[in-house]
Amino acid sequence: MRVLVTGGAGFIGSHLCEALLAEGHSVVCVDNLLTGSLRNIAQLKNEPRFEFRQIDINEPYDVGKVDYIFNLASPASPVDYMEHGIETLKVGSLGSFHSLDLAKKYGAKYLVSSTSECYGDPLEHPQRETYWGHVNPIGPRSVYDESKRFAEAATMAYHRYHKVDTRILRIFNTYGPRLQLNDGRVISNFMKQALRGEPLTVYGDGQQTRSFCYVSDEVEGILRLSRSDIHDPVNIGNPNEFTILECAHLVLKVTGSSSSITYNPLPIDDPKQRRPDISKARTHLGWEPKIDLETGLKLSMEYFQKAIEIEDAEKAGRTHTVAV
Ligand code: NAD
Ligand code: UDP
Repeated sequence: MRVLVTGGAGFIGSHLCEALLAEGHSVVCVDNLLTGSLRNIAQLKNEPRFEFRQIDINEPYDVGKVDYIFNLASPASPVDYMEHGIETLKVGSLGSFHSLDLAKKYGAKYLVSSTSECYGDPLEHPQRETYWGHVNPIGPRSVYDESKRFAEAATMAYHRYHKVDTRILRIFNTYGPRLQLNDGRVISNFMKQALRGEPLTVYGDGQQTRSFCYVSDEVEGILRLSRSDIHDPVNIGNPNEFTILECAHLVLKVTGSSSSITYNPLPIDDPKQRRPDISKARTHLGWEPKIDLETGLKLSMEYFQKAIEIEDAEKAGRTHTVAV
């Protein structure tokens, strides 16, 4: 197939591009590099079946006939989407329409990356796909939450009205190599702080929970969903739940760091708990995450060390040769 991945120069998108190439497909990677980086796809530049196009999908676009569209473009970390609030609202709305129009035009299958944030600060735990969520529609996180909820609505509408063959993926916190060093997410912050010997910044009392999925597990889930005929949303995430304080201690253990822990204010509307119910993915996709948090952090360590080296070299004005 000729496959389009929007957001393909981002963290998850770049791993997905590699997985699709490994399956024998040709990949067109579209990205405006708002939060992604060419460094994430540098290893693919000599691959004849890989093509990068710098395009903002908030404007109408066309890359020629494609058989499948994976629409992953969107800022994803709270720091990024709050900095780029309007772009985030646009990519879930305008970006969705432009990508769905392309799917309609070429009769391509379509998969959109939605998020556990659709559940907001959930009152149901763990979160099943049938839960409609508890979202503040005007709070600081709403630029992301409502954008993604709109993207889901647009996807279902194109499925219902235009018979586009769609899938909706609800991703829960995913981490691993190529997570941006400075995107403010908890794993990138803690890994960077631990490796630099700086205090780990726990927000609130650290008793809020998250469930962390290693990127290779996430990509396997995406691929399996893409081959299925499920049009309703499917959660893909790791159901092992950790308090943020437990996560901090695990990062200290894995990195062997003696950093201290400091407590900062909890951001507004920060969800208190988050854990996917993955029964649907287990039953219908035969999918199950394989990598636990401790193993995943170990697998990510070399990347974070290199990313810190690169950052230090850039700050010192040196050019670097380290690829990530
Ligand atoms: P990321 O920021 O690394 O990647 C997103 C990519 O989209 C970036 O390369 C960015 O430049 C690109 N992009 C943004 N706006 C664009 C536009 N208008 N046109 C073209 N490209 C654009 O984030 P990620 O973690 O890889 O997230 C990928 C997708 O998965 C996003 O849709 C995100 O909402 C979703 N998701 C991720 C997580 C997670 O834990 N990583 C959790 C839930 C959902
Ligand atoms: N968090 C933290 N310290 C940090 C960054 C994040 O304690 O340096 C907390 C944050 O308040 C939230 C959780 O970790 O409760 C996960 O935050 P992240 O930004 O990774 O993503 P979210 O799951 O909130 O979208």
